[in-house]
Amino acid sequence: MKQNKNEKKSIIIGLTGGIGSGKTTVTELLLEKGFPVIDADKISREIMDEPKTGCEVVDCFGENIVDPDGKIDRRKLRKIVFEDESLLKELNKIFHEKIRNRINIDISSLKKDGKSVIFLDAPLLIENKLDKMVDEVWIVFCSIESQIERVMKRDNSSRKEIEQIIKRQMPLDEKLECANLVFKNDGSVLELKEKLESALQSLNERV
Ligand code: ATP
Repeated sequence: MKQNKNEKKSIIIGLTGGIGSGKTTVTELLLEKGFPVIDADKISREIMDEPKTGCEVVDCFGENIVDPDGKIDRRKLRKIVFEDESLLKELNKIFHEKIRNRINIDISSLKKDGKSVIFLDAPLLIENKLDKMVDEVWIVFCSIESQIERVMKRDNSSRKEIEQIIKRQMPLDEKLECANLVFKNDGSVLELKEKLESALQSLNERV
């Protein structure tokens, strides 16, 4: 990302990983420690609720995509694009630039506040090429079995549903090729916390 003359040098770290790998757990620890974390999913939900986006989505997907309150029915939209890759591309056309712009605004504002380390939590960091906006990519991962068991427990969803989601996500080994740092999260949360502490310590020596 280009550095504005008035902005302090900061390091931007993209945090990503597959479903149930432990991103939120890492993010919560980062927030507890006072690091700023930009939440790409939250940005995308906010953009979805903007009237202008709503109109563009309706133009593309039809009136049926709107729920009785006049808001985009996210579940319906997710199901449609999950089943049809060409429609996913259309949806991405509507969203990507808006999401990038918002992330850039948030990064600039955090830089102006003097933050030297900024995290971007984005489950689809690599798939949506948001990794081009960051200086480093940190990936949290665990075995597929841990992903399934943890998400089944967390969301009350079925093994089959989770397996389908995992199958649709970018394969872990492709993701790992983009990583500057990885957190293997097959142990306890405490172990994950210790790995993060050590990563933050070495980061501290670099900024
Ligand atoms: P998603 O992509 O679905 O949002 P995520 O990558 O954010 O998932 P988390 O929500 O952090 O993953 O973790 C999934 C579940 O596993 C949560 O209920 C979390 O508390 C639990 N969890 C995370 N790490 C561990 C661990 N090391 N041991 C046991 N449970 C864990």
